[in-house]
Amino acid sequence: MRLELRGITKRFPGVVANDSVDLTVEPGEVHGLLGENGAGKSTLMNILYGLYSADEGEILVEGEPVRFDGPGDAIAAGIGMVHQHFMLVPVFTVAENITLGVERTSGLGRLDRGAASRAVRELAESSGLPVDPDAVVGSLPVGLQQRVEILKALYRDARLLILDEPTAVLTPQEADDLFDAVRRFVADGRSAIFISHKLREHRALVDRVSVLRRGRIVGTADPRTSSEQELADLMVGRPVDLTVSRAPAAPGEPVLEVEHLVVRDLLDAPVVDDVSLTVRRGEILAVAGVEGNGQTPLVRAITGLEPGFEGDIRLGGRSMAGLTRKEVLRAGVGHVPEDRNREGLVAGFSIAENLVLDLWDVAPFARRGALDFGVIEEHARRQVEDFDVRTPSIHTSAGSLSGGNQQKVVVAREFQREIDLLVVAQPTRGVDVGSIEHIHARLVTKRDEGAAVVVVSSELDEVLALADRVAIMFRGRLLGPFETPISKDAVGLMMAGASPDEALQKGA
Ligand code: ADP
Ligand code: MG
Repeated sequence: MRLELRGITKRFPGVVANDSVDLTVEPGEVHGLLGENGAGKSTLMNILYGLYSADEGEILVEGEPVRFDGPGDAIAAGIGMVHQHFMLVPVFTVAENITLGVERTSGLGRLDRGAASRAVRELAESSGLPVDPDAVVGSLPVGLQQRVEILKALYRDARLLILDEPTAVLTPQEADDLFDAVRRFVADGRSAIFISHKLREHRALVDRVSVLRRGRIVGTADPRTSSEQELADLMVGRPVDLTVSRAPAAPGEPVLEVEHLVVRDLLDAPVVDDVSLTVRRGEILAVAGVEGNGQTPLVRAITGLEPGFEGDIRLGGRSMAGLTRKEVLRAGVGHVPEDRNREGLVAGFSIAENLVLDLWDVAPFARRGALDFGVIEEHARRQVEDFDVRTPSIHTSAGSLSGGNQQKVVVAREFQREIDLLVVAQPTRGVDVGSIEHIHARLVTKRDEGAAVVVVSSELDEVLALADRVAIMFRGRLLGPFETPISKDAVGLMMAGASPDEALQKGA
């Protein structure tokens, strides 16, 4: 499909999300859209899919101007979209979800389930996205649910497929399978728009990549002839250091000792299943895994949020069993939580207040029982500057910041505390490339100052950039830790469920 966007502008209160965007997609092309968080990628695609209407500009399909008043119009024009968050009905089968709204009926006007199931199976196989049509969607892993979303668009005869950050929920191998399917999809003149903030993925898949920065297209490039460095600089608007520089670890005595840890969910099933590990002073242990494999409860248990655990967790030789969250933090644990809104910040408090949360009653922020506002504000100004928190003022409420800037506030606070153990979960999620560089460098500094550091991340590149040792979580169990360097393929295979022996052999 030939698609042209001309001069698309979309304003939200206080922000121009898209600023006179011109974009052309040719038949047979996979067009990449690259940009930091908040650059305006999803907004542009939601306009193209009829979910938002543009304030200015026009859309042309096969050279003809079109007007979309809703997704129904976009679908009718041959546009399909797979969202960042899926929109499937969990209790329906795969075939029911895919055929929803376009059911074919038998002669008597009854739904023909057998025919739907057969049609879906055929479509799945021919498009290189195999899935069982009769499986209930809610029981499928996210990678397969995403397939169902894609098949749903294909079933509606999409000629242009929009994929908004599709790889965020996939293992590296699943991402490769997706890329194969997308290439197959465009082979006969159909087209795709692929969104990601990962440079490497654009280089692996797309024919041309357009870079969005603060709502504007700042360049279009051939990702095969431009380097990752060039693309990163274009995306951020200044030169970026893509590598994490660090000396080899010099591990000291054990700080964290986890022994036979079991955490159960509400139905009593073990979500952390007999996990043991030790982390020493001066080293970073990175825990890789597709989300939902037990990393979250593991971190919660270590940081005092899961008091009912079985087994033992010791900090500097002292058992943490039975301690409250506050006692665990005061014992020398820093925590950058995955869910910063629930556990990391108080939305109604100012940035300055959030930066001393848990610390407001200790020196230097309080003296003889009274808060020292001068010190607290001076401290806040330094942290905001140092971590490049984009905010009008240190008195702005944390809740009104963008997700990436909220994350910087939590990271800034936890990194400056005096701690023996730092536990960070998804430290750079939603954070732009320029700030990722800074957060990674500070993590290494924390290690070099003698903290034991645990980094949990579903970004394999992040894991490998930071890890002195790597462990992988799969279905509640911990594989490893393994010494680094370790091959990326091997870690990817273990994330997908391969045994260590098999993964280390195949992924060597
Ligand atoms: P991206 O997908 O590149 O991360 P988005 O398109 O989601 O970026 O967001 C672009 C900008 O528009 C951001 O500043 C975001 O906060 C803002 N924005 C997006 N959707 C809305 C909305 N529905 N209401 C208000 N502001 C929005
Ligand atoms: Mg988006």
